[in-house]
Amino acid sequence: MSANYIPQPDLGFIAEIRGLGGETLKKCYQCATCSVACPIAPEDSPFPRKEMIAASWGLKDKLIGNADIWLCHQCGDCTDLCPRGAAPGDVLAAVRSAAITEYATPKALAKAVNDPSKLPLLLGIPAAWFALLAIITTAFGGIMEKIFHFLFGDALGGRLHWSHAHEGAEHVIAHSNFVSTWFVDMTFVPIAIFATVVFFLALKRFIVDIHDNAVLEGKTDKTSLDYKALLQSVINVIPMVLKHDKFNQCEANKDRSTPHMMVLFAFIGLAIVTAVCGIMLYVGGYAGPYPQLNPIKWLANIAGVSLVIGSGMMIKNRLTNKTQITAYKDWFILIVVFALGLSGMLTEMARLAGVAWISYFFYWIHLIAIFELFMFLPFSKMAHIVYRTVAMGYADYANRK
Ligand code: SF4
Ligand code: SF4
Repeated sequence: MSANYIPQPDLGFIAEIRGLGGETLKKCYQCATCSVACPIAPEDSPFPRKEMIAASWGLKDKLIGNADIWLCHQCGDCTDLCPRGAAPGDVLAAVRSAAITEYATPKALAKAVNDPSKLPLLLGIPAAWFALLAIITTAFGGIMEKIFHFLFGDALGGRLHWSHAHEGAEHVIAHSNFVSTWFVDMTFVPIAIFATVVFFLALKRFIVDIHDNAVLEGKTDKTSLDYKALLQSVINVIPMVLKHDKFNQCEANKDRSTPHMMVLFAFIGLAIVTAVCGIMLYVGGYAGPYPQLNPIKWLANIAGVSLVIGSGMMIKNRLTNKTQITAYKDWFILIVVFALGLSGMLTEMARLAGVAWISYFFYWIHLIAIFELFMFLPFSKMAHIVYRTVAMGYADYANRK
């Protein structure tokens, strides 16, 4: 039996949801067409009708820690069929954005990603940082070589060098001659650790909240949390996430599944490329650029093209779909991902054309895009991949009724 629940409306939360793309939430008159239409909603306690009540009453605590909001794949079937134009799919997307902001700390960063007025700062800081590193690398390479040799000259049998440009690199365009690979790694490794810690702390709270919510609403037969079993369930749902099985059950925006998968697999491909290149550099002592016939280069090129086309299709879909609401937070991550892929491809094309400074310019843009993606990963819409996978794993673990 569910415990007594005392509603605590939060007007600020209603305003937040409206600002994140859920401005239609008050149009809902509770006909339940959306819950009938949703191909993903479970038979017992289906969504999104009950979430629409909670959103229009500003019941933040009923929504933020509700795993059901993550089971929705924003296919738009319910939005298409809603007789009142309340766009329940978009309201749930706005609630998910609010949940990401709620769980990720520090809050100032989470709010900055949602605030267009902070964009110059979010772009300006990495732009200035990488410009500074480029100046040090290009103008003071000799001094850095001496400092590095003094500090690490004897480390690893003298195999460590300041410059990672390979033999004869002065005759080819090597981006480590523009921004040292050491600088790049000294920037991105701490950022990757930071993003991992933010996710870990956020997920710790998130899992407790979705479990409490499921128990309170009678959606699970599990009374306590078994993290080992939950982890196994999360692993179990990963193939489903990769294949977009749930997304493909929807009708209205089924075609969105292709660009989503292209972007997802592009990132997996690029992660493999980064890992292999890192191992080759720091263990094998082989620095790029890699020849075009090298298989790792093929993978990088295929992943890069897939990223540009997939994210480009997503942007086109958003621009042409007049019924779907696209909030600033959606545009932020879409443009970052597109810029990341495009700048990477343009960097390589300019390098192959032998135009060093144009290639370096695109590389600078590329570094800024990577910074934006990883630094703000736990705060941006991209975090939905992590939350959704955990929520789907929880639904499997909890025998969601
Ligand atoms: S969101 Fe639309 S379809 Fe769903 S209950 Fe409200 S009015 Fe009905
Ligand atoms: S957008 Fe699709 S998955 Fe989400 S609630 Fe609506 S019908 Fe269900």
